[in-house]
Amino acid sequence: MTSESAVSTAVVDELGARLKAYEGRPAAVAGIGKDPVNEPMIRHWCEAMGDTNPAYAGPDAIAPPTMLQAWTMGGLSGHSGRTGAHDELFDLLDEAGCTSVVATDCEQEYLRPLRPGDEVTFDAVIEAVSDRKTTKLGTGYFVTTRMDVRVDQDLVGTHRFRILKYAPARQKQKRKPEEEGARARRPRPVVNRDNAGFWEGVERHQLLIQRCTNCGTLRHPWLPGCNTCGGPDWDTVEASGDGTVYSYVVMHHPPFPAFNPPYAVGLIELAEGVRIVSNVVGVPYDKVRVGLPVRLEFRRYDDDEDDPLVLPVFRVQEGREGGVG
Ligand SMILES: [Zn+2]
Repeated sequence: MTSESAVSTAVVDELGARLKAYEGRPAAVAGIGKDPVNEPMIRHWCEAMGDTNPAYAGPDAIAPPTMLQAWTMGGLSGHSGRTGAHDELFDLLDEAGCTSVVATDCEQEYLRPLRPGDEVTFDAVIEAVSDRKTTKLGTGYFVTTRMDVRVDQDLVGTHRFRILKYAPARQKQKRKPEEEGARARRPRPVVNRDNAGFWEGVERHQLLIQRCTNCGTLRHPWLPGCNTCGGPDWDTVEASGDGTVYSYVVMHHPPFPAFNPPYAVGLIELAEGVRIVSNVVGVPYDKVRVGLPVRLEFRRYDDDEDDPLVLPVFRVQEGREGGVG
């Protein structure tokens, strides 16, 4: 070890020790849920999640346990009651260059069901600060906050939330768009057991849609089971190739090395009724509109003999730009 790295390790340890001192300190105290546990919020949650469990409806309804955090959230106007310790810890990390944040995981424990009318209170504590860690994103510290949720002083659940607060790793130099010839290869699709049949179809210039052999429902993207009936068995139908632009976005940022923004990414509704994300070609990015009729074609990208890339794209049908907007 050189003397230089010995010095920087000592500096890091000093920061780590300062951060560790925040373990056990409160992050929020005496929080009060903005609404009591209530039926409308339960109903909206269940509709959004597609959860039809009968336990969450009717006169003896309980709240879905995974709603625990919903009863403690501050909404757009936030909560007061966050402590100085929490802000100090984050300021220390910011000053040390750990200015980025990513949530990594969340863990809940349920001690008893919550029911409409329950009034929730909560406290949060900085439970743990990890040693310095280096990840693909960068180097920093995992901070775990634990929220204890109570009703009438009884602990009803806990919610642990872990984030990585980190100094971003230096990004690779971006190529300028005019360096077309030097542009990176497009990323290759991740082919796995569940979607291999789709990519085999693309190689043969066929766009295959999965069909449940139990209930006949078509689906895309490819999945191991049917969302309608749960059936695991399927066959395929070949798409006719006709479709319309159901929706689209124009990508300006971030400039991925293999792409040349701005470009339009379309959500294409196939004549068969399923939708697929793909490129819309044949018109400039700013001429793509909802409702444009498009036709499937297969386009080869990157002239790479050893690893050819063929993708389905959708060409706007000329003379039929009758889209809305
Ligand atoms: Zn089915």
